[in-house]
Amino acid sequence: MSCKEVTYYQAVCDVCGTVHDGEFSAWADPSDASTQASYDGWIEVEVPLAADATEYDSIRTTTGEKWRSILICGKHGSDGIEWCEACEEDLNEDGWRISEDGKHIIQVCESGHENNVPLGGEGQ
Ligand SMILES: [Zn+2]
Ligand SMILES: [Zn+2]
Repeated sequence: MSCKEVTYYQAVCDVCGTVHDGEFSAWADPSDASTQASYDGWIEVEVPLAADATEYDSIRTTTGEKWRSILICGKHGSDGIEWCEACEEDLNEDGWRISEDGKHIIQVCESGHENNVPLGGEGQ
């Protein structure tokens, strides 16, 4: 028999660096890792990046656009993530953008409140 090295992926919170620790937490495919984490209350948002961005390994290129997937673990709650911290209006999962320094994701609600999530997790 021969052996083959397999790389497994685990979901890591982009805000605090927590590694997803579920019943099944290591996956051969990174998208399975994030899907499983979302069943445990993690939130995944995707933010568009500048066309020349190269510094993140989570970039996918579809139709020439670059996106970064951000995972947020359950302990940050939903305030300022799923809904606006100030007025509790629902935030749009697709409405996030990344700050110029790449250290925050930002969404302004329809009433003009800025919701700002600092990214301090691994890979920063
Ligand atoms: Zn976290
Ligand atoms: Zn608001």
